[in-house]
Order: sequence, then C-alpha cells, then structure tokens
Amino acid sequence: MEKVVILGSGIAGLTAAVYCARAELSPLVIGGPQEGGQLTLTTKVENFPGFPEGIQGPQLVQHTREQAQKFGARFATDSITSVKEISGGYELTASERTIQTQTLIIASGASARWLNVKGEEQYKGKGVTTCATCDGFFYKDKEVIVVGGGDSACEEALFLTKFCTKVTIIHRRDQLRASVIMQERVKKNDKIDIRWNNIVDQIKGDGKHVTGVDLVDVNTGEVEDFATQGVFLAIGHIPNTSFLKGLVDLNDKGYLITDRFMHTSKKGVFGAGDVQDLVYRQAITAAGSGCKAAMEAEKYLAEHD
Ligand code: NAP
Repeated sequence: MEKVVILGSGIAGLTAAVYCARAELSPLVIGGPQEGGQLTLTTKVENFPGFPEGIQGPQLVQHTREQAQKFGARFATDSITSVKEISGGYELTASERTIQTQTLIIASGASARWLNVKGEEQYKGKGVTTCATCDGFFYKDKEVIVVGGGDSACEEALFLTKFCTKVTIIHRRDQLRASVIMQERVKKNDKIDIRWNNIVDQIKGDGKHVTGVDLVDVNTGEVEDFATQGVFLAIGHIPNTSFLKGLVDLNDKGYLITDRFMHTSKKGVFGAGDVQDLVYRQAITAAGSGCKAAMEAEKYLAEHD
C-alpha cells in the first residue's frame, strides 16, 4: 500500500509532491490527460513570486516536477475512474490496475468549459479551440474571435495578436471580469476589438473549417452573421471530480469541498488546487494549498501509522 498518492500533476499536485517527498513519504503522483495542468497551456506567468522577469508556465511546472523528483517523488500517467474506501485507506481504479493508498491528495484541477452551441462539436479542432497557446500559430494572418471576459480571454486575445490580423473579444456583458492590468493591455492593443453584450449562438463552417458565428445581442435579441476563421473559448473551467462522486462531498458546482486545512469529508483524503478553489484559482494559491495538503497528509500518517 502506498503512503500517499497525489492525483494531478499541475502546480498544486507537484507542490504537494515536493513536500511529501521531503518528508520521505515517497509519494506517487498520477498525472491525467493534461499532464502538468493548466500552466502548461499558458505563456508567461508574471505574478508567481520569485520571478521578477516572469517565467514560462511550462518551465515553472517542469522545475517543480524536477524538484519533487529530486527528493524521491514517483510519477505515473493514468486515468483514475473511481476511488473507494477500503480497510486502512483507499483503492483507486485506473485503466488497467488498482492502486491502494493510505492517504490521497486530490489535485485533479479543472478543465475548459465549452459553449454547448450548435456547430461547436463539429468544428472542434477545425477552428474551435480552448487553447490559444497551443493552436494560435495555426491562425497566422487570420481573423479570430475570443469568447469570454476574464483574465484568460484577455491573455488569449493578447497572445493571438502575435499571429492574427484581428482579434474580436465577444463578451456577454458590458464590463470585463479580467484584472485591471489585463483590461488595459487589451484596450491599448489596436488589433483587439471588443463586442459587448453578445453571445455566440451558433458556429458555422464549410464542413472543413469555421467560417463564422451567429452573434446574438443580449439586449435586443438581434442576430448577426459574423465572419471569423477561428473561435477561441475562454469561458472558465469545470472541476475534474466526476470520478469522486459518492466518495467525498462536492458542492453544487461539482467542486471538492475542503476545510481550511485542506481536509475533505473523508479522513485521509485531502484536496488542493483548482479542483477545490472557486475563488482565487491562481498558480500561487494552488501551490500553497498543495503544500498544506501535503503537511496534513504527513500529520495524518504520523497519527495513524
Ligand atoms: P473566469 O474569470 O471565470 O471568466 C470566465 C469568463 O467567461 C467570464 O467573463 C464569464 O462571463 C464568461 N463566461 C462564462 N460562461 C460563459 C458562457 N456560457 N457564455 C459566454 N461567456 C461565458 O475564468 P478565467 O478567465 O479562465 O480565469 C480563471 C481564474 O484564473 C481567474 O481567477 C483569473 O484571475 C485567473 N487567471 C489569471 C491570469 C493572469 O493573472 N494573467 C490569466 C488567466 C487566468 P461573466 O463575466 O459575465 O461571468
């Protein structure tokens, strides 16, 4: 039986791994489909303390992984489909094996939200995407839209101006949710336009690529046929907790419920990072919660071993 299994290899899981490894618990970190978490999909992180010039998201993840490895953390990639309580711990069902552990740190993060409108499924990967950093290059000299009004939408729009001739942010309200600094950068950029009070109602194409969207003005109900070659979605995230149903308490939005010590409703199961954070969702808060979860797991093992 493992002492600690950490589910998720984003910055929360990796920070937990550094702490558990330094406590000589030899943690097993299981990364899911998005190895390295959301930071691997971003560019420069400017607000992680200690990097006055900023640091590339993937580099921050890689450094933390190496740090954990140096102290004895082990890594695997697998898809955990369910977790059940067993005598003395928990059993995780992966694609081709089961893993037993005394404690579990859930840092499975959150995945991009989709619009669920007509045409979205058909044109996924053919003009509809949730990752400008991954796909922006393919839109060189094209006109694209970014849907959303938060920091991600602003960041994606700014990044896309490197390649695209024009970027239009489509936002459902008349005010951005993004931080002031990001709003100012967007407003100063000549290549970015903002369409206020509009939603995307349908994504259209020629069968192979996106050619446009139907925009609906939320105030007047007017529908506009808006030509675009790319649709970048930045409308938030959904916590990755479906495999936890029935094991621990989740809130009405599916987020893992933790107390301020990162304890979940089950003894020996802790949560960290975006899977349990609806409020801050920053790299530094995810790392901080990973640290707390690891220290609590260590304490729990000392009391129960
Ligand atoms: P977010 O802050 O939740 O913003 C999501 C945006 O999408 C909101 O503007 C929301 O509109 C809109 N939206 C949600 N559902 C929609 C729908 N069905 N149709 C149309 N629009 C929809 O998410 P985020 O931008 O991904 O940011 C998540 C967290 O990461 C935040 O805490 C953010 O500060 C942080 N972050 C920080 C940075 C940075 O510091 N550089 C970069 C990226 C992310 P409403 O505004 O009307 O709700």
